[in-house]
Amino acid sequence: MAVKDQPRAPRGRQIANIILLLSSLFLLVNVFFPNLFGPSIPQVPYSLFVHQIEEQQVTRVSLGQNQIRYQLKATDDQPAQVLATTPIPLDLELPKILEANGVEFAAAPPAQNGWLTSLLSWVVPPLIFVAIFQFFSGRGFGGPQGALSITKSKAKVYVEGESAKTTFADVAGVEESKTELVEIVEFLKSPQRFTQIGARIPKGVLLVGPPGTGKTLLAKAVAGEAGVTFFSISGSEFVELFVGAGAARVRDLFEQAKKQAPCIIFIDELDAIGKSRSSGIYGGNDEREQTLNQLLTEMDGFAVGDATVIVLAATNRPESLDPALLRPGRFDRQVLVDRPDLSGREAILKIHSVKVKLGPDVNLRAIATRTPGFAGADLANLVNEAALLAARARREAVAQEDFAEAIERVVAGLEKKSRVLNDKEKKIVAYHEVGHALVGAMTSTGGRVEKISIVPRGMAALGYTLQLPTEDRFLMDEAELRNQIATLLGGRSAEEIIFGSITTGASNDLQRATELAERMVTAYGMSKVLGPLAYEQGQQNMFLGNGGANARRAVSEQTAEAIDREVKGIVDQAHQQALDILNANRDLLETITGQLLETEVIEGEALQTLLTQVSQPSPVHA
Ligand code: ADP
Ligand code: MG
Ligand code: ZN
Repeated sequence: MAVKDQPRAPRGRQIANIILLLSSLFLLVNVFFPNLFGPSIPQVPYSLFVHQIEEQQVTRVSLGQNQIRYQLKATDDQPAQVLATTPIPLDLELPKILEANGVEFAAAPPAQNGWLTSLLSWVVPPLIFVAIFQFFSGRGFGGPQGALSITKSKAKVYVEGESAKTTFADVAGVEESKTELVEIVEFLKSPQRFTQIGARIPKGVLLVGPPGTGKTLLAKAVAGEAGVTFFSISGSEFVELFVGAGAARVRDLFEQAKKQAPCIIFIDELDAIGKSRSSGIYGGNDEREQTLNQLLTEMDGFAVGDATVIVLAATNRPESLDPALLRPGRFDRQVLVDRPDLSGREAILKIHSVKVKLGPDVNLRAIATRTPGFAGADLANLVNEAALLAARARREAVAQEDFAEAIERVVAGLEKKSRVLNDKEKKIVAYHEVGHALVGAMTSTGGRVEKISIVPRGMAALGYTLQLPTEDRFLMDEAELRNQIATLLGGRSAEEIIFGSITTGASNDLQRATELAERMVTAYGMSKVLGPLAYEQGQQNMFLGNGGANARRAVSEQTAEAIDREVKGIVDQAHQQALDILNANRDLLETITGQLLETEVIEGEALQTLLTQVSQPSPVHA
């Protein structure tokens, strides 16, 4: 897809720019040669001036800071004349001389053209700066990309017809979203077919989904399939330095788009401007609000049928959007772009591995199986990472083992061998991870523990326990969810048992465990007390997975309390389960931890042999 320069500035604009250029030149010359234009005053040496005073030829004197102006008496052969001295020496005697000769004198008021000079000295330097900048950026004055056109939209324009256009074939694993967008392509291709029978063409379509699932890619594909112009701008680019500039940009963007209709305007990161007006840490952000209001006005403004401009937007935080954006006639269509499932992942891997040389042992299906939860961008990254590893090992083609290593890298961030923990920290992390592993192994229903590591990776994780589900799970029963919560609490429980205290390292585990428990109560209806009611606000928040607290439906105080009690009950019970398992397997906990501290990583056969020794606690609490 090629990026085309925007249409050239209209003629009127060019002329205005030439005038601007000439007038700034004029101002410039005027400042440096103030006497070039307008009447000039003859200059005389200071000594002549003093002489003339003494000769009684001077009537009035005006003392300036670096120049004296004075009036000569009219003589027979000359009318009264105003003269100025050349720059003057500091002469403290002068007032006395003037007085002695009866000359009227006063300090000059700020030079008569002072206001002009000072104005110019403010105006001219920036103008020069702009002129130089413009000259070197080689864009001509005020061109569409020029510095004088700050309010112009910075939208990149993609046009169809170029060699590398994006189509739906480049997007995989999001079949449902594609189906919905095919309809949009139809609207763009033949709008009359729909308007004829009175169908209203949607104005705004919001692509909603986690980061990296292909929202931007899909928007480009829609433009590519329909063969229309594609204006793309990111919400964050709208938020400008100057109040009002963002709004002007929106206006300009829509103006341009209407001229190019049918076309697509794509606003990436809509949440950057579309944040709910009441929320936001910065309180009221005037600039953003103005931009948002302008966007709403523009979307309401263009009548259906007058031009087919479809506004696509993408966000991964739909819950933060201003509800006004979602009203009919605005972004009234929402297309969910979710993480791909197993076969979706395989298809995406296929697309991205076209460009790399694959060895005969590579099994994309197997890779897809091992990457649940990966989004399209993660998979693209994975393929590249594997190719890099193969290149580093000087292999001819990418092998399956490169993929295996790449998965680990992408899962837990790059190894950071440089980061060292002290011995005490290392010990805590080791017990913590083995705690996860043992509880996970004991309660495992879907996945098995593949690896325990205390090699620090990425930013947050000091160590990690890799438990891969053997299949994609869409349906989990209550027992499985409880087991998952227990596994999450296993790390903290081990710390409690061994050290009697808990470190801050467990906070992410706790958060995830609590969220899961809350979901069980408020979304899945698994609480006997509260019954099968959905207390979560709609579906929107759910697919975003761990995306923070769930927005609850407005509930009575008693219900809220009951929910909290139920959530706490689930977490407490899972915690007890984890403690029981670890207490019953205390020796094994010590053994594995000792080994882990030595080798830093335990995996494969060795790990499985160790974990099969785990035994059920005697049923006291169960
Ligand atoms: P988003 O806009 O949802 O954050 P992008 O569209 O920017 O995600 O995706 C980034 C890159 O990841 C794409 O350019 C593409 O290479 C890859 N990618 C993401 N999703 C998919 C998909 N569904 N199919 C193929 N490639 C994908
Ligand atoms: Mg994007
Ligand atoms: Zn943990």
